[in-house]
Amino acid sequence: MGTLINVASSVVTSGTIPPRLVDGALVSTSVLQTPRAVAETKRFLDSIESRFSMLDSGGWSMFEETFIKSPGRELIYDPGQPFYTKNNELNLTAWHVAQVMSTLRDYLDVAAICDFPVPDLKNPARQEMQFRRHYGYNLTAARELLELRRRHTPEIGLYFPLQTYTFAHFNTAMADLGSGKDHTPFEGFCLPVRIFDDPAKIGVWALKILLSTSVVNLHIFGTHAFFAIALCAGLSGLFSALSLDSSSYFHYAKHSLYLLNDLQYVLIEEGKAYSDAISSACGCPVCAHVTLNDLRFKEPKYRSKLLEIHNYVAIDNFFKYAYRHSGSPHQLRQALLRISTRGREIDLVYNTLCAIEAFRNVDVSDEFLDRLYMDLIGRKRQ
Ligand SMILES: [Zn+2]
Repeated sequence: MGTLINVASSVVTSGTIPPRLVDGALVSTSVLQTPRAVAETKRFLDSIESRFSMLDSGGWSMFEETFIKSPGRELIYDPGQPFYTKNNELNLTAWHVAQVMSTLRDYLDVAAICDFPVPDLKNPARQEMQFRRHYGYNLTAARELLELRRRHTPEIGLYFPLQTYTFAHFNTAMADLGSGKDHTPFEGFCLPVRIFDDPAKIGVWALKILLSTSVVNLHIFGTHAFFAIALCAGLSGLFSALSLDSSSYFHYAKHSLYLLNDLQYVLIEEGKAYSDAISSACGCPVCAHVTLNDLRFKEPKYRSKLLEIHNYVAIDNFFKYAYRHSGSPHQLRQALLRISTRGREIDLVYNTLCAIEAFRNVDVSDEFLDRLYMDLIGRKRQ
């Protein structure tokens, strides 16, 4: 059975989560551009007993900031210049990622290949155009980083981020990179939750990956959603490592939200009263000393720090719970229903896992996978 890894992002910069609690950490090329940031990250990665350290290029947020919030900016490709220039340009190349990989070679397990995210457009013709416009960058960056990794840091795994909305896009990318059922030149795929946003979609694409590549590792970018963790737990019998990263523990805390054991939340407000049974059932280092009623009166910044720790542990406990009960789709469904009222989500996770089990050794076509997805989400094909 493969591993299921809770990867925390922003965990170095936030500095709140006790290192001994951290299961996996995500660090970012975009942040690791000063000697101070590198030294801090090394110190943190040294102090955690992490099973998994991953390097990301900077992610969707950087592109969102650059291209959506500030239109007119450009992505440039100049390995000779620093990672980021402020003259309305974002400079991110395979060389920048490779450089950080070398610097952190004693700490990293995996790096994500840098990519130019393809925005989600509902119009298929425009979507196709976006894919084609970004494809040259994505293919070049992948080829260059594969070569740089081979020469300088062969011990670090590389994951290819899927900026693909159709199986035809995926097939094109895999053919161009020389990937097939017998050999794939990288070790894993990253699926951004921005594109792969429901359990059936992640599941059907996991099936496609199993049927057409030799890859046995998956990472879901940017989420610790209940459905995503539950589905990945259910896939742990088929993959070697499944990981999911997010800084949601931090964002929930910032908004005074206390996560329950199925990751639904309670808003902590001064005028409300809460049952002490909630915190006494938790067992995290915060709830051992403080109840929800106490949290109401803590100074907001301090409350947010306490909630970060509680929320991190709540998410981590859900990872462990789902993984422990992932022996079969049925066992997982029963276990999830015991702790949660999210019946529809649980059913979709269950139905998806049953479909994967049924077809994982059958050579099904892309059209079949498209139909399977529509069936799972109960939507008619257009
Ligand atoms: Zn707690």
